[in-house]
Amino acid sequence: MVEMQEMTCVRCPGDLRVEVGSALVDEPGPGEMRVRTMMSAICGSDLHHYRAAASLRDENGWSQWALGHENTGIVDAVGPGVAYPAVGDRVVVFGIVGCGHCVHCRRGEAMFCADAQHFSRHRHGTNIACLLAPARNALPLPDDFDWEMGALLSCNVGTAYGALRKTEVSGDRPLAVFGLGPVGLACVMLGKARGAVVIGVDPVAERRALALECGAQVALDSSDANLVERIVQAAGGEGAAASIDTSGHPAARAAAVDVLRTQGTYVEVGVGHDPTIAPSQQIIFREVTLRGSWLYKQHEWEGLLDFVRRRQVPIKSLITHRFRPEDAVQAFKLANRATTGKILFDWS
Ligand SMILES: [Zn+2]
Ligand SMILES: [Zn+2]
Repeated sequence: MVEMQEMTCVRCPGDLRVEVGSALVDEPGPGEMRVRTMMSAICGSDLHHYRAAASLRDENGWSQWALGHENTGIVDAVGPGVAYPAVGDRVVVFGIVGCGHCVHCRRGEAMFCADAQHFSRHRHGTNIACLLAPARNALPLPDDFDWEMGALLSCNVGTAYGALRKTEVSGDRPLAVFGLGPVGLACVMLGKARGAVVIGVDPVAERRALALECGAQVALDSSDANLVERIVQAAGGEGAAASIDTSGHPAARAAAVDVLRTQGTYVEVGVGHDPTIAPSQQIIFREVTLRGSWLYKQHEWEGLLDFVRRRQVPIKSLITHRFRPEDAVQAFKLANRATTGKILFDWS
């Protein structure tokens, strides 16, 4: 006899609304775990849901699910046949559920799985008091990382880490970061920890100020008429060795290619509108590499923890606001203004 429990959760009907309500959560079945949420967070991709039309969200059946994919918590129950994790373990739940057996799932890349289920689209997301997920999605959170750090690592800092690993930036390879929201700010921090000179770009003054606090050498206004030239100069005259766009804005994407030195690498992280890029001039004749980067891979988790620990990256300074889940309406209103650093929900 399966016992369902009523759990507080945050849902998103669309049209710039969220609602705090409740949902029934099952006991974990075979191979599953249930994680009591200690901390969750608002991600830029949650804002895509928030800004979407309610009619679209209803049509797709998305509004029934708890919103969110960033979290950390304590395992409070496991189903039959689960060897790891155990009840009481501190974990982050990897935000995409794959089939578990295809080649991508075996590599820890559930995002490429043909049967991938996304939190808050196909099943409950992380803004829920207890989250049910396959045990194989558990990423261990060591004791020297507190709950806030766990929530930051689960997507935000992890996404920046995945992108940074594709750039090969270092002390003599400057980095330009377009879009200085939480993921962009984390790219600044991790780029600096790799020894790179980092140039930040954002239209919002508050976010440029945060980037300077996070270690950017310079933070430029994206509306600057000489933006590309300024970045090239700040990068030592030759251009940036790498650029990352976290904004998804077409102009930022085009500029992110133009600021590169020959044979530089551009990594796209921000989901958004399609850019207009001229392959001959922008890519072929300068031998530029364009790469996409989606979250991080489960096998990168220990490397991510180790990097943050050894370099003592001050990731908690990405947090500018903390809310209780009951105040989700206010928290999302604030996040939608795109002026803050990271916003967390404390469920503890
Ligand atoms: Zn996220
Ligand atoms: Zn799969």
